Amino acid sequence: MTRGPLLPDAAEPLPTLGVLGGGQLGRMFAHAAQAAGYGVAVLDPDPAGPAGQLAQRQIAAAYDDPAGWAALASCCQAVTTEFENVPAQAMDWLAQRLPVSPPAAAVAICQDRAREKAFFERAGVPCAPHAPLCRDADLAAVPDRLLPGILKTAALGYDGKGQVAVDSPAALAAAWAALGRAPCVLEQRLSLRLELSVIVARGRDGAIVQLPVQQNLHRDGILAVTQAPAPDLPAEVAAQAVDAARRLAAAMDYVGVLCVEFFWLADGRLVANEMAPRPHNSGHYSIDACDVSQFDLQVRTLAGLPLVMPRQHSPAVMLNLLGDLWFAPGVGAPRTPPWDRVLALPGARLHLYGKAEPRRARKMGHLTLTAATASEARRVALQACALLGLPAF
Ligand code: ATP
Ligand code: MG
Repeated sequence: MTRGPLLPDAAEPLPTLGVLGGGQLGRMFAHAAQAAGYGVAVLDPDPAGPAGQLAQRQIAAAYDDPAGWAALASCCQAVTTEFENVPAQAMDWLAQRLPVSPPAAAVAICQDRAREKAFFERAGVPCAPHAPLCRDADLAAVPDRLLPGILKTAALGYDGKGQVAVDSPAALAAAWAALGRAPCVLEQRLSLRLELSVIVARGRDGAIVQLPVQQNLHRDGILAVTQAPAPDLPAEVAAQAVDAARRLAAAMDYVGVLCVEFFWLADGRLVANEMAPRPHNSGHYSIDACDVSQFDLQVRTLAGLPLVMPRQHSPAVMLNLLGDLWFAPGVGAPRTPPWDRVLALPGARLHLYGKAEPRRARKMGHLTLTAATASEARRVALQACALLGLPAF
């Protein structure tokens, strides 16, 4: 269901935006929504999660619980999601009653790697050579050229989870068994020159804007560093990525914020890796470095407000802060990282997500370093890495 724009206001009850999911993306959405004059309602099984902690309304319910959907619909005027694994029925049920973005059909594409790759091909955007793996016959039919490859579960993977590198048919069979023979996609392992992502926002009227192209460094399958502007990417490759991301958004009749991850290959080709139907970790720098952040764009697309092209006012480097930082070598108990020393660096801005328990590989927060020039932002980011014991990049 669509209506006219939902304008922010100061009178109670505030015009309220709902979000499915209460993690860090929901938290930063809530920051942006509240700053702009909206109330926020969060549906999450854990009401005290990163977003629930600061929302006006917390609805503690499972994502497939119709009572939770009804509670959400009764207290907000539009609904978005902060993660792609919300059940399609939840999105459909809500969309019959109030504006919901992104559309359920787009979320369904992003939930499943096989569907996503088929969509890339339909839209004329190249992706990694791949084959589905759903039944025994698929295993025998895998072409040799896909090996060495990466076996990925079709659904529910994130931060490199549900992925196994395989280099022979025997290893492939073993990896599939280890993944419980869940529906998978086998991708050819590509030789990457670098990784990049593009965040676009598309409004109900079809207008599209984008953030500057980000250059991303992953470690162990998890995003570690984002640099914007992308220091090593030729302008024509960046333009190609922006064009592809805009075309993908339009082809899905998308409304909301969409991130498309790309690989720039050693042979010079650009291929799409995957999409996220929401703001993305690689766009967090936009909070501190752009006049309109990816979360502001999520608020605007959801409320039906005008989109303007974001302007990056400062070059930026973002460092992800994983739970590992809380564990000093040789010490069992968690310690607080030396934030006082980090915050003594010019242009450093710390974002912590309100997760009480640090765990290894858990995203606890991020640090953005902005500066007048890209080389200065990188220089200070390297100092932050040294203080935190992170590898240089
Ligand atoms: P996310 O947290 O981004 O959702 P994910 O678990 O869905 O991650 P992918 O984005 O598919 O995983 O892969 C994680 C990382 O693994 C990529 O960013 C890239 O570094 C590497 N990778 C994935 N697929 C390939 C490939 N076909 N060839 C080479 N490297 C790859
Ligand atoms: Mg990824």
